[in-house]
Amino acid sequence: MVVAFKPEIDHDSSPYQTALAQFDRAIRYLKIDDGVADFLRYPRREFTVNFPVRRDDGSIEMFTGYRVHHNTVLGPSKGGIRYSLAVTMDEIRALAMWMTWKCSLVNIPFGGAKGGVVVDPKTLSPRELENLTRRYAAELIPIIDPHTDIPAPDLGTNPQIMAWFMDTYSMNKGYSVPAIVTGKPINIGGSLGRNQATGRGVITVMMEALRYMGRKDAESTRLAIQGFGNVGSNAALAAHENGFKIVAVSDVYGGVYNANGLDIEALMAYVAETGTVDGFPGGEACTNDEVLTSDCDVLIPAALEDQITARNAGRIKAELIVEGANGPTTPEADDILRDRGVLLVPDILANAGGVIVSYFEWVQDLQSFFWDEDEIYRQLERILTRSFEATVMTAEKHKTDLRTAAQVLAIQRVADALTTRGFYP
Ligand code: GLU
Repeated sequence: MVVAFKPEIDHDSSPYQTALAQFDRAIRYLKIDDGVADFLRYPRREFTVNFPVRRDDGSIEMFTGYRVHHNTVLGPSKGGIRYSLAVTMDEIRALAMWMTWKCSLVNIPFGGAKGGVVVDPKTLSPRELENLTRRYAAELIPIIDPHTDIPAPDLGTNPQIMAWFMDTYSMNKGYSVPAIVTGKPINIGGSLGRNQATGRGVITVMMEALRYMGRKDAESTRLAIQGFGNVGSNAALAAHENGFKIVAVSDVYGGVYNANGLDIEALMAYVAETGTVDGFPGGEACTNDEVLTSDCDVLIPAALEDQITARNAGRIKAELIVEGANGPTTPEADDILRDRGVLLVPDILANAGGVIVSYFEWVQDLQSFFWDEDEIYRQLERILTRSFEATVMTAEKHKTDLRTAAQVLAIQRVADALTTRGFYP
């Protein structure tokens, strides 16, 4: 008998419940066996590690980390590692499931995984951050490998952390294994374009969506961006290069709004100096919530899960939302936005640029043959444009929203591969 999976809920709002609710919406449009659907609800493996880290004052502190492999039907599992105090098993499980659908949707040969450590990286010295990363990497050795599971950066992690990760793994093997992680620095086997890929991809997909809506003029299109980390800042740069006007940005410290458009070059210089957009003199101060509901045409949530909810979805003024973050919109907010005629390009499509260039990085590392930047961006745009078109066609066919359509395509592909492979034993 098939029993519906009842995961533990350890959040006020559970990202995994959101992921399951989205899944249940999508499978209504699919002809898949109930047992296959249930198989896809479960993560394949869940790994928890508790490990010690020596602080600079000589004391020892314990930390908890996770790594979840949601699905490995299409290939080795792929997904980032986040360092954040909000990390829970529930969150990592949801993010791993979204990685499965993301890789499947854009047709790259990976399954889905995610990892995380419960830590605020800003409270650690560089030395402590290295110690924590090396120990967490060592703890994951039994379940990672270039052919089984390949981590990458996510919230709170960066190329330097990936370098320590790669070095720890390589030291344990006795030889260099660049393909163990993606998002590494270029000088140790990273790919050109990887650092910019997610934010740049968000703008590529946004431009496809604007074209689809019949809106062609960049200068008169006003963007609001929540989050100014790797995704938000690179999206802002790419949007600026393409002539769009950015009227609002925010980060964890605060936000800034300017109806005439922010001076992005001055803003970048300010962030490089102060580490935040808060206090930027080229606009008025505003809160994160005010960025989400600001007067703009396109909203790009590029921070955390659970930002666009039933509380604020009715007040959003944008006609287009492009999800740079994973899981920023709840299912209730999806309904409100759809009823209000707001077009939403879902995370698994909008922010897939990162994992697509991660795939290129992994291929380059395995072959020890590196591509130039033009080739990377050409292939990235080709995959994103094709995936956008396929999603729109599926949405039109089933008369549904783009999130459901993207999940329909992604889930069908994994279910078909699973059925072709058959069940073991
Ligand atoms: N963390 C990114 C994401 O959520 C990238 C994952 C990867 O490159 O493996 O898509």
